[in-house]
This record gives sequence, C-alpha cells and structure tokens, in this order.
Amino acid sequence: KVRTRFAPSPTGHVHIGNMRAAIYNWLFARHMGGEFLLRVEDTDRERSTPEAIQTLLEAMEWLKLDVDGEPLYQSTRMEAHLEAAEMLLSKGMAYKEDKGGTGQGECIIFKMPGTDSTFEDGIKGTLSKAAENMQDFVIVRSNGTPVFHLANVLDDIEQGVTHVIRGDDHVENTFRHIALYKALGAEVPNFAHLPMIVNAQGKPYSKRDGDAFVGDFREKGFLGDALFNYLALLGWSPGDDREVMSRDEMVEAFTLERCQSSAAQVDLKKLTWMNGEYMLKLPEEEFDSMAFAELEKAGIEAEPEYAQRVFGLVRERVKTVADLAPMVGYFFTDDYAYDEKAVKKKIQKDGVADILAQLKELLAALEVFDEASTDQALHDFVEASGLGFGAVMAPARIAVSGIQSGPDLFPMLDVLGRERVLKRIDRTVQ
Ligand code: GLU
Repeated sequence: KVRTRFAPSPTGHVHIGNMRAAIYNWLFARHMGGEFLLRVEDTDRERSTPEAIQTLLEAMEWLKLDVDGEPLYQSTRMEAHLEAAEMLLSKGMAYKEDKGGTGQGECIIFKMPGTDSTFEDGIKGTLSKAAENMQDFVIVRSNGTPVFHLANVLDDIEQGVTHVIRGDDHVENTFRHIALYKALGAEVPNFAHLPMIVNAQGKPYSKRDGDAFVGDFREKGFLGDALFNYLALLGWSPGDDREVMSRDEMVEAFTLERCQSSAAQVDLKKLTWMNGEYMLKLPEEEFDSMAFAELEKAGIEAEPEYAQRVFGLVRERVKTVADLAPMVGYFFTDDYAYDEKAVKKKIQKDGVADILAQLKELLAALEVFDEASTDQALHDFVEASGLGFGAVMAPARIAVSGIQSGPDLFPMLDVLGRERVLKRIDRTVQ
C-alpha cells in the first residue's frame, strides 16, 4: 500500500513551495488509494515553537489536506535515532571523530560505502552519482543531537513511507539517504523530486517576489480551494487543457509522470484569475458571509438586505474578496468621492446640469422605480431630447456613484433606490 508523507520543519511561515510538496503527496496518496501521513520535523527547538506548529496545522486544514493517523513529532524520536547510530557504530558502518579536536565531545560520522549510486526518480528519471563525489557525513553532532539525514531516514522507516516526494533541493541528500537505508537494512523507498518554483527571472521564488506564505494568501481573502488548485497545477498538468478542477478530478488525474521536471514559474495573476473562478462558484450564502466580514473590516455599516443586493450587483467582478470594499463604498455613504477627471469631462460641460435636472424630474415622477422603469425613462428621454445615449448615461452614472465604471446602470439605480438617486443627482449639480 502506498504511503506518502509531508515532513515540514515548522518555522512559523509555510512557504507555498513546501505546501505544494504537501499537495502532491496528498494527491498521489489519494490517487493510489494509499495513506498520507504527517511528520513534524521539529528538532530545531528554537524555531519549532508551539505557535509555529499551530500555523502549519492551520494551513493544512485550510487547504483540506487531511492526514491519516496521528502526526509523528520527530523530537520524540531522539532516543531511537541515537540507538541506530550506536548500531551503525558497532557494525563499523560509522565512526567517531573529535572534530576540531576541542575535546567537547565526538561526532558520529557515517561511512559512505564507496560505490557509485543510481536511483530511478519518479519525475527526473535515472539519477547517478560517482563514489568519489560522495563524502562521509555527520549523523550525530558532537553535542549528541542527531542530524537531519539520520532522523529523516529513520522516521520514514518508522512510518512505513513508500514514496518520498519532495523538493529537488534534496536530490543530493537522497544519495546519502539511500546509503543509510541500505546500512540500516531497510527497503529503499521510491523517490520523486519536484522542480523548484521560481520567479520571473528563474530564481527561487521568495517573499521579495510577492506573497510567498500560505498565510499571506489567506489573509488577503483568497480561497483555500483556489490556492490548492493553483499550486496543484504549478508543476503538474492533467494532460489536457483543464485548469479549474474539482479535488476529485485532480485526485483522479494525478500521476508523477505528469509532473514536469523543469522549474515552475509563479504567476500571481493566474492565481487571482483562478480565485475569481472559485468565487463565482461559491454558494450565495457563503459569498455573502465573506462579503459582510469584509465590509466590517473596512468599517462600513450595512443594512443586511440592501447589502445583499449590492453584493449581487458586483459579485461577478470580485476576484478576491478584498476587492469588494473599495468596489462598493459609494453604495453605503452619500458622502462618496467623485473622480475629478470624470467630473471635468462629463459633468462640468454646458447643458449637463440641465440634463441631470430633467432626468431627476423624470425619475421623481415615475410610478414605480425599478430596473425596467428607469431603463424605459432614460431611453425615452434620450429619444425625445435628441441627445446621444452616452451624453445622458455617463453623467447619470457619475452623479450616483462618483465614478465612471461599475455595475450596469439600471440594476444599480434599482438597488440604490429612488430616494438616494434623487439626492445624489442634487448633490452633483449643486
Ligand atoms: N524537513 C525537511 C524539509 O522541510 C523534509 C524534507 C523531506 O521531505 O524529506 O525540507
């Protein structure tokens, strides 16, 4: 049975590159009907604080990466790691060295077997390294703590991991790890190394290039499902042109063969687009509750029924929920700002005040004030006056919202309601 794992070292931030490794391990395990385990490599006591571990678990939960079984905390395994090192010593597969001759303690060094090494990488194909390029390496420090290589291999053995899928910054380590597996008499797992994710210049993608941590995206209102989908496609493709895919579809289509071996470039515009696609799919209640929270954050007080109608007007243009508050501000205050350029061009022109005054009267006189009736009134007015359609529409829009772009005018007038619309026209022509 296939068993994969995610083995992060918690630092308080979860880089999207690490999370992508978790996603691929999860997808592969689910595709194969296997298990996905978590191992927290928390041996760096300074960085692996309870808060850092909490951040990690929350990021996984947000992305719905469900784990099989209990997580293994590497820090609980120190005794087993040291015991194994002693065993290697006793078999002559490791030796002690008083490094630097300080006499403070001896480190334990693993003896490489002195033979060339080759393995089949699930993504990169056959990888080899000559014996003379592989040096002996430390497995226990002189202060008595086990080194990453030893702990990582022993814990993968302990957890019964069959497939190690991780970043290709670990390829060099893998040659060492394979030698360790053999020395420990354990079966060597399958390895697959994922290409780095890079910026537009082909350099490792970092905080300097834009948001790089899972928490950043969450705070900005991105949806976990959208980030999951985006990261899944960052170095993997289903083999056809599908992009927005459900989790089941991704699980169904995921194979290591379809992972690319060249670096994958982060494209935040594409992520934003994808998030917009997921926003459109949200059930209305979910969209509304996110939108209400966003208004509250922005300090906008909103009457629920009115606000819901406003959300309906802009919903299709909201790529991330953070777009919302700046987009709808004028619906919730009569003291909205005017786009000065637009006012100069479209309002402060001869005759416009008069047009708006006539329009106001028409709208005031309507029996019913709604989308259809305002539409009709405006069209009748355009026809009777001989003015161009834009000569009436544009000032009307700027008058009621302060800006030139926004939702369709008539549904917008309907939602604003007669009272606001008339007041706003007055305010504009004064
Ligand atoms: N803690 C290591 C890392 O985060 C684990 C690497 C691995 O997956 O084996 O890079």
